Amino acid sequence: WAKQNGRDNAKLFQSYMAKEVTSGFQKEQDIKDALDNDQFFLVFQPQIDTAYGRIFGFEALIRWLHPKMGTISPDDFIPQAEESNLICRIDEWVLEKTVKTLDTWRSLEFDIQPVAVNISGRHFAAEGFLESIQTLLERYDVPGSWLKIEITEGVFIHNMDYCVEVMSGLKQLGVEISVDDFGTGYSSLHYLKMLPLDVLKIDKSFVSEIGDNVEGRKICEAIVQLAQNLELEVIAEGVENSHQCEVLNSLGCHLHQGYYHHKPLIEEAALEMLRTQSLQVENSKTG
Ligand code: C2E
Ligand code: MG
Ligand code: MG
Ligand code: MG
Repeated sequence: WAKQNGRDNAKLFQSYMAKEVTSGFQKEQDIKDALDNDQFFLVFQPQIDTAYGRIFGFEALIRWLHPKMGTISPDDFIPQAEESNLICRIDEWVLEKTVKTLDTWRSLEFDIQPVAVNISGRHFAAEGFLESIQTLLERYDVPGSWLKIEITEGVFIHNMDYCVEVMSGLKQLGVEISVDDFGTGYSSLHYLKMLPLDVLKIDKSFVSEIGDNVEGRKICEAIVQLAQNLELEVIAEGVENSHQCEVLNSLGCHLHQGYYHHKPLIEEAALEMLRTQSLQVENSKTG
Protein backbone atom coordinates (compact mmCIF):
# COMPACT_ATOMS: atom_id res chain seq x y z
CA TRP A 1 0.00 0.00 0.00
CA ALA A 2 2.71 2.37 1.05
CA LYS A 3 4.69 1.52 -2.04
CA GLN A 4 1.72 2.10 -4.33
CA ASN A 5 0.97 5.36 -2.65
CA GLY A 6 4.57 6.43 -2.92
CA ARG A 7 4.64 5.63 -6.61
CA ASP A 8 1.45 7.63 -7.20
CA ASN A 9 2.91 10.54 -5.32
CA ALA A 10 6.08 10.31 -7.35
CA LYS A 11 4.02 10.37 -10.56
CA LEU A 12 1.99 13.28 -9.36
CA PHE A 13 5.13 15.11 -8.38
CA GLN A 14 6.72 14.43 -11.77
CA SER A 15 3.77 15.76 -13.73
CA TYR A 16 3.59 18.76 -11.41
CA MET A 17 7.28 19.45 -11.94
CA ALA A 18 6.93 19.10 -15.69
CA LYS A 19 4.20 21.72 -15.68
CA GLU A 20 6.22 24.07 -13.52
CA VAL A 21 9.26 23.69 -15.72
CA THR A 22 7.40 24.34 -18.98
CA SER A 23 5.40 27.26 -17.65
CA GLY A 24 8.59 28.64 -16.14
CA PHE A 25 10.38 28.23 -19.42
CA GLN A 26 7.54 29.81 -21.37
CA LYS A 27 7.49 32.72 -19.01
CA GLU A 28 11.23 33.25 -19.50
CA GLN A 29 10.78 33.27 -23.26
CA ASP A 30 7.76 35.56 -22.85
CA ILE A 31 9.83 38.02 -20.82
CA LYS A 32 12.52 38.02 -23.52
CA ASP A 33 9.86 38.68 -26.16
CA ALA A 34 8.41 41.45 -24.02
CA LEU A 35 11.82 43.13 -23.86
CA ASP A 36 12.28 42.78 -27.61
CA ASN A 37 8.75 44.03 -28.37
CA ASP A 38 8.69 46.92 -25.92
CA GLN A 39 5.82 45.60 -23.80
CA PHE A 40 7.01 47.09 -20.51
CA PHE A 41 6.15 50.51 -19.20
CA LEU A 42 6.80 52.48 -16.04
CA VAL A 43 4.45 54.06 -13.55
CA PHE A 44 5.64 56.66 -11.07
CA GLN A 45 4.42 56.78 -7.48
CA PRO A 46 4.80 60.19 -5.83
CA GLN A 47 6.62 60.43 -2.50
CA ILE A 48 5.21 63.13 -0.22
CA ASP A 49 6.78 65.29 2.44
CA THR A 50 3.80 65.77 4.75
CA ALA A 51 5.53 68.60 6.61
CA TYR A 52 5.24 70.75 3.47
CA GLY A 53 2.57 68.89 1.51
CA ARG A 54 5.00 68.56 -1.37
CA ILE A 55 6.21 65.83 -3.68
CA PHE A 56 9.91 65.29 -3.08
CA GLY A 57 10.41 62.33 -5.40
CA PHE A 58 8.95 59.34 -7.22
CA GLU A 59 9.48 55.61 -7.31
CA ALA A 60 9.51 54.08 -10.80
CA LEU A 61 7.60 50.77 -10.86
CA ILE A 62 7.52 48.43 -13.83
CA ARG A 63 4.37 47.08 -15.50
CA TRP A 64 4.02 44.55 -18.30
CA LEU A 65 1.34 45.21 -20.90
CA HIS A 66 0.87 41.68 -22.17
CA PRO A 67 -0.90 41.42 -25.55
CA LYS A 68 -3.21 38.65 -24.30
CA MET A 69 -3.25 38.99 -20.53
CA GLY A 70 -3.36 42.76 -20.10
CA THR A 71 -1.34 44.52 -17.41
CA ILE A 72 0.79 42.16 -15.32
CA SER A 73 2.21 43.31 -11.98
CA PRO A 74 5.92 42.94 -11.18
CA ASP A 75 5.22 40.45 -8.39
CA ASP A 76 4.11 38.05 -11.15
CA PHE A 77 7.28 38.17 -13.24
CA ILE A 78 10.19 39.79 -11.34
CA PRO A 79 10.77 36.70 -9.11
CA GLN A 80 10.98 34.55 -12.26
CA ALA A 81 13.33 37.02 -13.94
CA GLU A 82 15.51 37.08 -10.82
CA GLU A 83 16.31 33.41 -11.29
CA SER A 84 18.37 34.25 -14.35
CA ASN A 85 20.31 37.15 -15.80
CA LEU A 86 17.08 38.32 -17.41
CA ILE A 87 16.61 40.55 -14.37
CA CYS A 88 19.70 42.50 -15.42
CA ARG A 89 18.14 43.19 -18.82
CA ILE A 90 14.93 44.33 -17.12
CA ASP A 91 16.78 46.54 -14.64
CA GLU A 92 18.81 48.07 -17.46
CA TRP A 93 15.65 48.77 -19.41
CA VAL A 94 14.11 50.48 -16.35
CA LEU A 95 17.25 52.52 -15.72
CA GLU A 96 17.47 53.75 -19.29
CA LYS A 97 13.75 54.51 -19.47
CA THR A 98 13.97 56.47 -16.19
CA VAL A 99 16.99 58.50 -17.25
CA LYS A 100 15.36 59.21 -20.63
CA THR A 101 12.23 60.38 -18.81
CA LEU A 102 14.28 62.67 -16.57
CA ASP A 103 15.98 64.03 -19.69
CA THR A 104 12.62 64.98 -21.23
CA TRP A 105 11.31 66.45 -17.97
CA ARG A 106 14.35 68.70 -17.78
CA SER A 107 13.39 70.58 -20.93
CA LEU A 108 10.11 71.65 -19.30
CA GLU A 109 10.17 74.81 -17.28
CA PHE A 110 9.56 73.54 -13.79
CA ASP A 111 11.35 71.87 -10.91
CA ILE A 112 11.73 68.15 -11.30
CA GLN A 113 12.21 65.67 -8.45
CA PRO A 114 14.44 62.58 -8.21
CA VAL A 115 13.19 59.17 -9.34
CA ALA A 116 14.05 55.99 -7.42
CA VAL A 117 14.61 52.75 -9.32
CA ASN A 118 14.54 49.22 -7.86
CA ILE A 119 17.71 47.24 -8.51
CA SER A 120 17.78 43.51 -7.87
CA GLY A 121 20.60 41.97 -5.84
CA ARG A 122 21.84 39.98 -8.80
CA HIS A 123 22.19 43.08 -10.94
CA PHE A 124 23.81 45.09 -8.15
CA ALA A 125 26.41 42.34 -7.77
CA ALA A 126 27.00 41.97 -11.52
CA GLU A 127 30.29 43.12 -12.96
CA GLY A 128 30.12 46.54 -14.56
CA PHE A 129 27.00 47.69 -12.70
CA LEU A 130 28.55 50.93 -11.46
CA GLU A 131 30.13 51.69 -14.84
CA SER A 132 26.81 51.13 -16.62
CA ILE A 133 25.10 53.73 -14.41
CA GLN A 134 27.91 56.19 -14.99
CA THR A 135 27.77 55.68 -18.76
CA LEU A 136 24.00 56.12 -18.80
CA LEU A 137 24.11 59.39 -16.84
CA GLU A 138 26.86 60.72 -19.10
CA ARG A 139 25.05 59.69 -22.28
CA TYR A 140 21.95 61.70 -21.34
CA ASP A 141 23.88 64.30 -19.36
CA VAL A 142 21.52 63.76 -16.41
CA PRO A 143 22.82 64.63 -12.91
CA GLY A 144 23.22 61.60 -10.65
CA SER A 145 21.27 63.39 -7.91
CA TRP A 146 18.08 62.94 -9.98
CA LEU A 147 18.40 59.17 -9.73
CA LYS A 148 18.03 57.05 -6.60
CA ILE A 149 18.71 53.35 -6.26
CA GLU A 150 16.56 51.07 -4.09
CA ILE A 151 18.05 47.79 -2.94
CA THR A 152 16.87 45.25 -0.39
CA GLU A 153 18.87 43.93 2.55
CA GLY A 154 19.60 40.75 0.58
CA VAL A 155 22.28 42.69 -1.28
CA PHE A 156 24.37 42.88 1.90
CA ILE A 157 25.04 39.16 1.96
CA HIS A 158 27.52 39.88 -0.81
CA ASN A 159 31.04 40.73 0.13
CA MET A 160 31.02 43.84 2.30
CA ASP A 161 34.08 45.40 0.66
CA TYR A 162 32.41 45.04 -2.72
CA CYS A 163 29.21 46.72 -1.45
CA VAL A 164 31.21 49.61 -0.01
CA GLU A 165 33.07 50.02 -3.29
CA VAL A 166 29.95 50.09 -5.49
CA MET A 167 27.97 52.31 -3.11
CA SER A 168 30.83 54.78 -2.71
CA GLY A 169 31.03 54.94 -6.49
CA LEU A 170 27.31 55.67 -6.71
CA LYS A 171 27.64 58.37 -4.07
CA GLN A 172 30.44 59.99 -6.07
CA LEU A 173 28.05 60.16 -9.02
CA GLY A 174 25.50 61.82 -6.71
CA VAL A 175 23.18 58.81 -6.76
CA GLU A 176 21.49 58.19 -3.38
CA ILE A 177 20.90 54.70 -2.00
CA SER A 178 17.75 53.54 -0.22
CA VAL A 179 17.24 50.28 1.64
CA ASP A 180 13.86 48.95 0.46
CA ASP A 181 11.48 46.82 2.57
CA PHE A 182 13.63 47.62 5.60
CA GLY A 183 13.15 45.26 8.52
CA THR A 184 12.00 42.24 6.52
CA GLY A 185 15.47 40.88 5.69
CA TYR A 186 17.78 38.81 7.81
CA SER A 187 20.85 40.99 7.66
CA SER A 188 22.57 42.29 10.77
CA LEU A 189 22.41 45.95 11.75
CA HIS A 190 26.18 46.00 11.48
CA TYR A 191 26.04 46.95 7.78
CA LEU A 192 24.05 50.13 8.51
CA LYS A 193 27.19 51.55 10.07
CA MET A 194 29.55 50.19 7.44
CA LEU A 195 27.77 51.21 4.25
CA PRO A 196 27.26 54.70 2.81
CA LEU A 197 23.44 54.53 2.79
CA ASP A 198 21.03 57.47 2.59
CA VAL A 199 17.49 56.23 3.21
CA LEU A 200 15.62 53.48 5.06
CA LYS A 201 12.21 52.61 3.63
CA ILE A 202 9.94 51.16 6.33
CA ASP A 203 8.30 48.10 4.80
CA LYS A 204 4.57 48.39 4.23
CA SER A 205 3.90 45.34 6.40
CA PHE A 206 4.93 47.39 9.46
CA VAL A 207 2.94 50.44 8.38
CA SER A 208 -0.15 48.30 7.88
CA GLU A 209 0.10 47.07 11.49
CA ILE A 210 0.03 50.59 12.95
CA GLY A 211 -3.72 50.53 13.55
CA ASP A 212 -3.80 46.92 14.77
CA ASN A 213 -1.85 47.00 18.01
CA VAL A 214 0.82 48.77 20.01
CA GLU A 215 3.55 46.46 18.72
CA GLY A 216 2.89 47.42 15.09
CA ARG A 217 3.40 51.02 15.94
CA LYS A 218 6.47 50.29 18.10
CA ILE A 219 8.34 48.72 15.16
CA CYS A 220 7.82 51.85 13.08
CA GLU A 221 8.92 53.97 16.01
CA ALA A 222 12.08 51.90 16.45
CA ILE A 223 12.98 52.18 12.75
CA VAL A 224 12.41 55.94 12.76
CA GLN A 225 14.66 56.31 15.80
CA LEU A 226 17.32 54.07 14.32
CA ALA A 227 17.33 56.15 11.14
CA GLN A 228 17.51 59.40 13.08
CA ASN A 229 20.41 58.15 15.21
CA LEU A 230 22.32 57.06 12.12
CA GLU A 231 21.42 60.30 10.31
CA LEU A 232 19.56 58.50 7.56
CA GLU A 233 16.31 59.63 5.95
CA VAL A 234 13.30 57.44 6.59
CA ILE A 235 10.41 56.92 4.16
CA ALA A 236 7.25 55.03 5.16
CA GLU A 237 5.90 52.76 2.42
CA GLY A 238 2.31 51.66 1.94
CA VAL A 239 0.59 54.46 3.87
CA GLU A 240 -3.08 53.68 3.21
CA ASN A 241 -5.15 55.79 5.60
CA SER A 242 -5.23 58.99 7.66
CA HIS A 243 -4.60 57.14 10.92
CA GLN A 244 -1.33 55.66 9.66
CA CYS A 245 -0.39 59.05 8.24
CA GLU A 246 -0.99 60.82 11.55
CA VAL A 247 0.82 58.23 13.67
CA LEU A 248 3.85 58.34 11.36
CA ASN A 249 3.88 62.14 11.51
CA SER A 250 3.71 62.02 15.31
CA LEU A 251 6.73 59.68 15.28
CA GLY A 252 8.64 62.27 13.26
CA CYS A 253 8.36 60.40 9.97
CA HIS A 254 7.10 62.91 7.39
CA LEU A 255 8.25 61.23 4.20
CA HIS A 256 5.47 58.98 2.96
CA GLN A 257 4.64 56.85 -0.05
CA GLY A 258 1.29 55.12 -0.30
CA TYR A 259 -2.19 54.89 -1.75
CA TYR A 260 -3.49 57.35 0.88
CA HIS A 261 -1.44 60.06 -0.81
CA HIS A 262 -1.09 58.78 -4.39
CA LYS A 263 -1.26 55.56 -6.34
CA PRO A 264 1.43 54.92 -8.97
CA LEU A 265 0.71 57.19 -11.96
CA ILE A 266 1.35 56.97 -15.66
CA GLU A 267 4.11 59.30 -16.81
CA GLU A 268 1.79 62.05 -18.08
CA ALA A 269 -0.08 62.18 -14.76
CA ALA A 270 3.16 62.28 -12.76
CA LEU A 271 4.36 65.15 -14.90
CA GLU A 272 1.07 66.99 -14.43
CA MET A 273 1.51 66.71 -10.65
CA LEU A 274 4.96 68.29 -10.90
CA ARG A 275 3.62 71.06 -13.10
CA THR A 276 0.82 71.86 -10.65
CA GLN A 277 3.23 71.86 -7.73
CA SER A 278 5.63 74.12 -9.59
CA LEU A 279 2.83 76.60 -10.37
CA GLN A 280 1.76 76.64 -6.71
CA VAL A 281 5.31 77.46 -5.63
CA GLU A 282 5.47 80.25 -8.24
CA ASN A 283 2.14 81.68 -7.05
CA SER A 284 3.18 81.64 -3.41
CA LYS A 285 6.34 83.55 -4.37
CA THR A 286 4.56 86.25 -6.33
CA GLY A 287 1.27 86.27 -4.41
P1 C2E B 1 8.66 47.78 -3.74
O1 C2E B 1 9.90 48.29 -4.38
O2 C2E B 1 8.64 47.65 -2.24
O3 C2E B 1 7.51 48.74 -4.26
C1 C2E B 1 6.39 49.14 -3.51
C2 C2E B 1 5.17 48.37 -3.91
O4 C2E B 1 4.10 48.72 -3.03
C3 C2E B 1 4.65 48.71 -5.31
O5 C2E B 1 4.02 47.55 -5.82
C4 C2E B 1 3.60 49.77 -5.01
O6 C2E B 1 2.65 49.91 -6.03
C5 C2E B 1 3.01 49.19 -3.75
N1 C2E B 1 2.32 50.20 -2.93
C6 C2E B 1 2.58 51.52 -2.85
N2 C2E B 1 1.76 52.11 -1.98
C7 C2E B 1 0.95 51.14 -1.48
C8 C2E B 1 -0.11 51.13 -0.52
O7 C2E B 1 -0.48 52.13 0.08
N3 C2E B 1 -0.68 49.92 -0.26
C9 C2E B 1 -0.27 48.77 -0.88
N4 C2E B 1 -0.91 47.62 -0.55
N5 C2E B 1 0.71 48.76 -1.78
C10 C2E B 1 1.32 49.92 -2.07
P2 C2E B 1 4.40 47.02 -7.28
O8 C2E B 1 4.51 48.17 -8.21
O9 C2E B 1 3.42 45.94 -7.56
O10 C2E B 1 5.85 46.40 -7.09
C11 C2E B 1 6.05 45.27 -6.30
C12 C2E B 1 7.51 44.96 -6.16
O11 C2E B 1 8.06 44.57 -7.42
C13 C2E B 1 8.35 46.14 -5.73
O12 C2E B 1 8.28 46.33 -4.34
C14 C2E B 1 9.73 45.72 -6.20
O13 C2E B 1 10.30 44.81 -5.28
C15 C2E B 1 9.40 44.98 -7.49
N6 C2E B 1 9.60 45.90 -8.64
C16 C2E B 1 8.73 46.82 -9.12
N7 C2E B 1 9.26 47.48 -10.17
C17 C2E B 1 10.51 46.97 -10.34
C18 C2E B 1 11.59 47.25 -11.27
O14 C2E B 1 11.52 48.14 -12.12
N8 C2E B 1 12.74 46.51 -11.14
C19 C2E B 1 12.87 45.55 -10.17
N9 C2E B 1 14.03 44.87 -10.10
N10 C2E B 1 11.88 45.27 -9.29
C20 C2E B 1 10.73 45.97 -9.37
MG1 MG C 1 11.07 49.87 -4.07
MG1 MG D 1 9.27 48.21 -0.56
MG1 MG E 1 9.41 44.72 -2.41
